[in-house]
Amino acid sequence: MDDECKVPFHRPSIGEEEIREVEAALRSGWLTTGPRTHQFEEDVARYVDAARTVALSSATAGLHLSLAALDIGSGDEVITTPLTFCSTVNTILQVGATPVLADVAYDGNLDPRSVAVRITPRTKAIVPVHLAGLPCDMASIWELARQHKLRVIEDAAHAIGSRYDGHPIGSSRRGDGRRSDSVVFSFYATKNLTTGEGGMVATGDEELADRIRSLSLHGIDRSAWNRYSSRGNWYYEVRELGFKYNLTDIQSAIGIQQLKKLERMIGLRTTYASVYTQAFADMEELEVPPNDHRSRHAWHLYILRLNLDKLAIDRSQFIDELRRRGICASVHFIPIPLHPYFATQTTLASYSCPEALRLYPRILSLPLFPAMTLDQVLLVCSSVKDIVQRNKRSTSVALSSPAGLGQGLDHAGRN
Ligand SMILES: *Cc1c(COP(=O)(O)O)cnc(C)c1O
Repeated sequence: MDDECKVPFHRPSIGEEEIREVEAALRSGWLTTGPRTHQFEEDVARYVDAARTVALSSATAGLHLSLAALDIGSGDEVITTPLTFCSTVNTILQVGATPVLADVAYDGNLDPRSVAVRITPRTKAIVPVHLAGLPCDMASIWELARQHKLRVIEDAAHAIGSRYDGHPIGSSRRGDGRRSDSVVFSFYATKNLTTGEGGMVATGDEELADRIRSLSLHGIDRSAWNRYSSRGNWYYEVRELGFKYNLTDIQSAIGIQQLKKLERMIGLRTTYASVYTQAFADMEELEVPPNDHRSRHAWHLYILRLNLDKLAIDRSQFIDELRRRGICASVHFIPIPLHPYFATQTTLASYSCPEALRLYPRILSLPLFPAMTLDQVLLVCSSVKDIVQRNKRSTSVALSSPAGLGQGLDHAGRN
């Protein structure tokens, strides 16, 4: 299947630098969390301008521990977006809290007006997601949090390198009331910076960072080593029920080298995204992804929108047509209420997010990664244009049997 894939959806940018650093980690004799993880935490802290960072095994672990360390649990409600990966909602359920869906705005990000009407006396936190790397309207979200005394945990899985209001996502140097409690990055294989699997929490709250670190290692308190130093390095105390969510030095070795390339990689993503946007901007069958020039988009994803009323095929067929031309596309995301497991929960019902359900049948993610060649980018452009040319919906033809009436989830949000 892969030989016919001229343009895969993603390929990681791993060079000799990462390979050499992993080799050095392996030869060092220290494999688990150690000096390289410590360095990676410091490097990311400097890059995102955070007071504290804690490296973890995934962003999922970071979301879970942020909620747990903020004592969010049973009886609490947490407002989040329907247009996200299941991890955002799963972690809220895992701490015993109730996820509540608000709707998305035109940009695909959490709509603060929709959040406002979901706030109840039980609401404890908001979890916005910077979809595709485009920052959310954080000023409005922080203002709601201030008014209602809510915590804010940013799911920044797509957003390392994004900037909002002149500061990196993850910065803890903003003024009071203009920052989140916790900002969670993902270093999963396809993300803008990868360690294979991995994640990191950035926070300005030292106590929160310490508690997240302790919870990531079984709830072990290492400061006991110092207090009882006469007992030697073997001594530790389990202070609360924790998890095993640490990042290894082998993974951090990859991250240290990836971070050095991150600006260059985001530069390529930005260039390729603008090639796409220039190619598609004046086609009435397509709508290019929203951007906000006051922010810096990290272009983790290029989410193209189809104007389905101008096309004779649906999104699923559009993706099949790309595939026939050797191009692999994807969809980000299947809205939360459309998954059978979440559909059973009333606070995750479809009626809470009509905008997300309207957007869903129109979206597809085109290949966008720094290891792409410009030729591959141009092949995607010409293929998309060719598919549109061949599948325009003619306004004069009756639609008795439109090819576009597909199956299943694709149409859940229509009619
Ligand atoms: C990838 C992703 C996650 C989960 O990241 P992991 O590091 O794989 O746990 C969470 N939220 C969003 C929006 C993601 O895209």
